[in-house]
Amino acid sequence: MIQPIIIAIDGTSASGKSTTSKRVARHFGYTYVDTGAMYRALAWYCLTQHIDLHNEKAVGAACRKWKTSLVNVDHQVRILVDGYYPEKEIRTSETSAAVPFVAAVGKVREWMKTLQQSCSQFGNLVMEGRDIGTTIFPDTDFKFYLDAPLAERSKRRWADGVSEDLAKRDHSDSQRATSPLMIPLGAMVINNAGMTIEQTSQLIIDEVQRRLAARKH
Ligand code: C5P
Repeated sequence: MIQPIIIAIDGTSASGKSTTSKRVARHFGYTYVDTGAMYRALAWYCLTQHIDLHNEKAVGAACRKWKTSLVNVDHQVRILVDGYYPEKEIRTSETSAAVPFVAAVGKVREWMKTLQQSCSQFGNLVMEGRDIGTTIFPDTDFKFYLDAPLAERSKRRWADGVSEDLAKRDHSDSQRATSPLMIPLGAMVINNAGMTIEQTSQLIIDEVQRRLAARKH
């Protein structure tokens, strides 16, 4: 059986992962997977169920209990909770602040790993997150890590009309015990300070094309 191609794009918050990943996916005709949206959906679910986010057992139990499914809409994977796609709810500042707590729970990460690996059912993927190249698909030949200085990333969030403490989120993401944010072995690191989304995307597209061509020889 031919293995799907997985392009793993990890990096810090507001490093341009989402827009870049969508562009790269569109270029190659691959399916885009936003794994952050999956963690956000669980954080939102816990908030709606009044689950104490500091209680790891309760959060882990919620993850076992909630009813989810994956659908592929126009080459983008969505997580549905009880058949509902909480598109707006997962982007509120309340949800953003809650996500690192659920994302630090070992049982949650185990559950997400199975779910995210199952996305290969949709074929070739561009998957963005924090641990795709280290934990979810560590054997892929296509790993990228995006970053930019904190001041520039904060400015980008402001420009999007979102105010949040990125330093705090980066800190919890890189300090947690299970699958912390780090540069995956063999990843191409792109510090995109001063670069446009088009330039970042093109860099990745060119590199993927180069590696795909090298496979044929
Ligand atoms: O990418 P996004 O900002 O939407 O991710 C929200 C949060 O979800 C991150 O700050 C992180 O806590 C968590 N996350 C994670 N692992 C991933 C994707 C997201 O821990 N693969």
